[in-house]
Amino acid sequence: MMQVSLLDLNAQFSSIKEEVTQAIHSVLDSQHFIMGSVVKDFEEEVGNYIGANHALGCASGSDALLLALMAIDIKPGDYVITSPFTFFATAGAISRLGAIPIFIDIEMESYNIDPVKVREFLEGNDELSKRLSIKKEQIKAIIPVHLYGQMADMNPIMEVAKEFGLYVIEDAAQGIGSKYENKQAGTVGDFGCFSFFPSKNLGAYGDAGLITVKDDELAEKVDILRLHGARPKYHHKFVGINSRLDSIQAAVLSVKLKYLEEWSTKRRALALRYNDLFEKKGLSLSSTNSHLILPKETTGAPQNNGRHIYHQYTLRSSRRDELQKFLDENGIGTATYYPVPLHIQECFSNLGYVEGDCPNSMLASKQAFSLPIYPELASEEVEYVAETIAKFFAR
Ligand SMILES: *Cc1c(COP(=O)(O)O)cnc(C)c1O
Repeated sequence: MMQVSLLDLNAQFSSIKEEVTQAIHSVLDSQHFIMGSVVKDFEEEVGNYIGANHALGCASGSDALLLALMAIDIKPGDYVITSPFTFFATAGAISRLGAIPIFIDIEMESYNIDPVKVREFLEGNDELSKRLSIKKEQIKAIIPVHLYGQMADMNPIMEVAKEFGLYVIEDAAQGIGSKYENKQAGTVGDFGCFSFFPSKNLGAYGDAGLITVKDDELAEKVDILRLHGARPKYHHKFVGINSRLDSIQAAVLSVKLKYLEEWSTKRRALALRYNDLFEKKGLSLSSTNSHLILPKETTGAPQNNGRHIYHQYTLRSSRRDELQKFLDENGIGTATYYPVPLHIQECFSNLGYVEGDCPNSMLASKQAFSLPIYPELASEEVEYVAETIAKFFAR
């Protein structure tokens, strides 16, 4: 039986082992581990790659979100709008500052926050806004998440944010290199928050993150906040945190960044191959005998000048749990991102949401699952996965 794991980081490591080992050794030889030239160089390289005005390293994607929110003075009693269908860190950062997340449901096609529903909420035209009755002045920002590697629908989000005076913080942890109308993730909003967690498209060998910032003054504030708010050293302008990108991680990331475009191209090709196989086997939504709802390129479609970089290849099935079990029995790794939407998490139960407030997120949490996708995945492996799924539905 073939074994296809959800992710194989070893395959990538063996392809860059010498280069990356040498880069780590040169940091060891320098004995300069914090905020040195290696970090500065990487910040410049990745900032250029993204096309950001400012790019600042930090300790993780979670800290990137926290620092962005700190830079705009989010405090207890403030509200921040975000998606309930995301990794916990997105909402966790809001709560850590004593602020309160507002969960607005996703679009079913893209799994990203629905700008129409954001507007309805802000205009007070939906049931949720009436029930929560939040004063407009208390709502400070919106965090759209570029889930699975496809950007949220940024134009209407930027429009509504401007109209209501909200900052926009892109959670681009899963979206490095993704595009919306030719603009890269992290360049549209006021901030972009990136994660270099090892399993992300650009993964470090430990925790690491990055914040991109549009405005010069806010960038300087993030720079100060990540060093305990001190400038100069020992003179504290703000109460910041300790959140730096360390030199060893920066050295690894500099090596890997050179390959990112090639890896993104490979991910896209694999995703299209999956689509093709499922359609040929008559399993996709477009066929009469539909069993699978394939990922859809919306903002990420090439005809929209977008790019989906497939951090995950995520599809839906009404028989998801059975199918995942069958795949596991046949040596294929899958994952469920995410089984419980944030609006019904226990820690947010005091916020007063019910399941029906975000029906699309509920449905996605019950039906969505992700298949193996990473640049080194072989085409025989993709074929084996597709064949095994066809076998499941033929039983
Ligand atoms: C991974 C991730 C984060 C957090 O990044 P860390 O580097 O693990 O702290 C935040 N948001 C989303 C959507 C993520 O996928």
